[in-house]
Parts: sequence; C-alpha cells; structure tokens
Amino acid sequence: MNALSVQNVSVYYAQHQALRNINLEIEEGAFLGILGPNGGGKSTLIKAIIGSVPYSGTIKIFGKEQNYAELGYMPQSSGLNREFPIDALEVCLGANLHKKWHFFYRYTKAMYDEAVEYLELFGIGHLAHRSITELSGGEFQKLLLARTLLTKPKLLLLDEPTANIDPQSSEHIFEVLAKFNKKMTIIMVTHDLSAIASCVKSIACLSQSLIYHGEPKLNAEILTKMYGCPVDLIAHGHPHRVLPYHVHDEESGECYEMDYSQCHEIHGHVHEGHCHGHAKE
Ligand code: ADP
Ligand code: MG
Repeated sequence: MNALSVQNVSVYYAQHQALRNINLEIEEGAFLGILGPNGGGKSTLIKAIIGSVPYSGTIKIFGKEQNYAELGYMPQSSGLNREFPIDALEVCLGANLHKKWHFFYRYTKAMYDEAVEYLELFGIGHLAHRSITELSGGEFQKLLLARTLLTKPKLLLLDEPTANIDPQSSEHIFEVLAKFNKKMTIIMVTHDLSAIASCVKSIACLSQSLIYHGEPKLNAEILTKMYGCPVDLIAHGHPHRVLPYHVHDEESGECYEMDYSQCHEIHGHVHEGHCHGHAKE
C-alpha cells in the first residue's frame, strides 16, 4: 500500500488554478523532495494533503481518505508567536498534549525525557530551558522539527523546513531527517539542492501541473519547464548529483545540456552564453 496516493487533484483559489490535475503515488519509506518555482503550488499541494484547502480529485493516506491521524506537518513559516515567553522544552512537550490532555494532566518523566532526547538529536538539548525568544532562526526551526517528529507520524510533510537558515543547520537537519526516514515516509518542499543531493530519494517538480516525478536528477529540459533557465541553482558541496553541465544561451534564452569538454571550452570564453559547472555523475 502506498503512503500517499494523489489522483486527479486540482485546486482553485477563486478563479485562479493553483494545481492542475496532479497524479502522484508515493510508496511507504519514500523521501520525496518537491521542487518548483515560487507560486508553483507546492504549499497548496501539501495543504490539500492535510485537508486545509478544498480540492477536486482523490487523496488517500495509507489507503484511506481523510486519514489525517497518520500525518505530521510543519508549515512553511511558523505562525507561532515567538514573543511568547515559553521555553524550548515546553514547545516540544506540547506536541503530544492533544492525545492525552485532561484537566489534571501533568507531563510524565518519560515524556520529559523523550522531549529532551529529541532536542538532543538536533543538537539543541542544552537550549531546553532557554526562552524561544532567544533562539536563532536555525535553532528555532530545529525545535519545531523536533516537536513535529515527537508526534511520530507515519507520513511527515515539511514545507521548506530550511528556508532562511544557515547551511550548516540545514545540513544537520537533513542528516537527522535521513535517519527518521528509516521509520517514516517524508515529503519535503525545498529549494535547497544540497537536500536533493544528500537526503531525498526521489523528486517531484511542480509548476501548477506535475512536470516530473522520479529519481533526484534534473536535466535541462525539466529545469527549463520549471524555471525558465536555472541560472541560480547550484548545490554547493554536492556538484556531482543534481545538475548536468548545461549552457544558457543568452540570445535565444534556451537552456541545454552538453558534455564536460564542450562546457569547459565555453568556460574558456570560446562561445557566447554562460555555463554552470555541475558535473554529470
Ligand atoms: P508555492 O508554495 O509553490 O510557492 P503556493 O501553493 O503557495 O505556491 O501558491 C500557488 C498559487 O496559488 C500562487 O499563485 C499563489 O499566489 C496562489 N495562492 C496561494 N494561496 C492562496 C490563497 N489563500 N488565496 C489565493 N491565492 C492563493
Ligand atoms: Mg510555498
């Protein structure tokens, strides 16, 4: 049984079509990266999966519609009010409160220990009693992830979990997620090509419709369909996985693949147009 089955899903916001006829089958154990331009409908797809926007078509989570209990979800940028003086451990502990809460409910020692353990996984155990107002952006993102993981979802949905944080924190987050992927299926919207190179096992490219779903290798055709020319897409530190050598012809605006020696020639300013040094495997 697949973790997620999306069949003929379309989403409209008033007259505007954000998603057109999406079909996507995600097997259990997958780690899917969702890529696409701004406004391409990535967040909308995640919101349709969690049932927070109306859609046409069918979405099944582990074979059942509206099976939301299996989901963990972290939104694009948290609406959590960080001025509120609550400490990191309390934020983390709050994750499971809805499951057991009653008026005289108290956290058990086991719950504390587990929350601390999850903070430690992200290297922020020492910040357990620090007010969230004092955490850096990266530390706060790690805290929210720890909180989401603590609910032990079978399908984890992350919407740009590493946007606006430093590359080291991002790398650390991807490492932890890769470990959790042994226990849960993960779907992550990301602009971070180092994630595509390091932890995701497949990618889906979304620009209103689904342009590509498959192994995490992009080619010039996919990139051109998605972004026009991908001049800014560089996976620092992972040059050999994501992008083939490709050339952007500034006159025609077209983007095409070519082999290393040709590309090298262009780097030597033999031809017009510019070239990005991403090696094919
Ligand atoms: P992405 O996450 O890929 O950047 P979104 O899913 O947020 O894209 O948005 C897809 C499209 O739908 C965009 O054109 C966006 O402006 C539009 N959109 C998103 N949310 C709303 C909304 N609540 N009301 C109207 N239009 C929206
Ligand atoms: Mg988005």
